Amino acid sequence: MSAPVDLRSDTVTQPTAGMRAAMAAAPLGDDVFGDDPSVNALQDKIAAMLGFEAALFVPTGTQGNLCAILAHCQRGDEYIVGQMQHCYRWEGGGAAVFGSVQPQPLDNQADGSLALAQIEAAIKPDDPHFARTRLLALENTIGGKLLPMAYVEQATQLAQRKGLSRHLDGARLFNAAVAQAAQAGSDPRAEARRIAQCFDSVSVCFSKGLGAPAGSALCGSRELIARARRIRKMAGGAMRQAGFIAAAASYALDHHIDRLAEDHALARRLAEGLGGIAELQVEPPQTNILFVDLVGPAQERSAALLDHLAREGVQATGLYRLRFVTHLDVDAAGVERAVAAIRRFFQVSGTRHA
Ligand SMILES: *Cc1c(COP(=O)(O)O)cnc(C)c1O
Repeated sequence: MSAPVDLRSDTVTQPTAGMRAAMAAAPLGDDVFGDDPSVNALQDKIAAMLGFEAALFVPTGTQGNLCAILAHCQRGDEYIVGQMQHCYRWEGGGAAVFGSVQPQPLDNQADGSLALAQIEAAIKPDDPHFARTRLLALENTIGGKLLPMAYVEQATQLAQRKGLSRHLDGARLFNAAVAQAAQAGSDPRAEARRIAQCFDSVSVCFSKGLGAPAGSALCGSRELIARARRIRKMAGGAMRQAGFIAAAASYALDHHIDRLAEDHALARRLAEGLGGIAELQVEPPQTNILFVDLVGPAQERSAALLDHLAREGVQATGLYRLRFVTHLDVDAAGVERAVAAIRRFFQVSGTRHA
């Protein structure tokens, strides 16, 4: 039997031997004094990769988004954001709590985008009745979906025309870039830069598919990053010998971008393996996240299915909507194990695909 497989999230990866060696060898300083060479090198590397003047290393993606929103907006400003976006729904309302910045959430359409007409309609006139609309925040990938490049261009051009700043929650920007590069037959780094250049700021997670133990970067203009640095300090995110983790992130940028294509292929393979099970509706994955809905009476069985999977050494999350995420520590054998366990639960015999 293959080893247990953890499909809960791409955050669960362990640093590889190569990454640990890079961490152990990292030159260190005190990043609050600005002299940790490994942090500075990482910040320079990600800023240059994505085409920005500057970058700031932060402990988490949540803090990266918080620093971005508070650097773009003042008290009494608002940001337009999707209902399903992390920086509205999954960050404890931080921008409102710490920054007195009001969110203006809009429904995400099925493809993860915000309708252009709704964005335009949500922008408030300059009138004392209203919060000042200052920022548009998008997310790519969102729920594992790649926002179409043409849409990203249209939405960010609309925002610019209307005088709004533009922030991208690019926690999984490199998953988006790898998927887009596969469609376009181009290089993921070129696609990452193309997407990022539509925005005034971009946050990127190193601790998701890139496989580092912690850390994110916020990229933007020198001026924006200087403001974000103050906010990071207030939020308690200024670290000292942070070069240990910056070195892991830097290693990930050098070694773990192209391999995201393997995660995407395994997510597709998992989806194929679950095809033909009547109780399941499988959403074809675009990147490394697979959503599976239990349908009809099977909806009652999601907790039982997750328990069954856990007993079979397969971890996943979700209640009505099951979520399986592939990553650096998942291989083909792990995916087969998950497929076999799910098919056993629904008493479907055999494996459907080669
Ligand atoms: C994971 C994630 C974040 C940040 O999460 P942290 O756990 O704070 O690092 C931000 N946005 C998206 C879309 C994410 O998936």
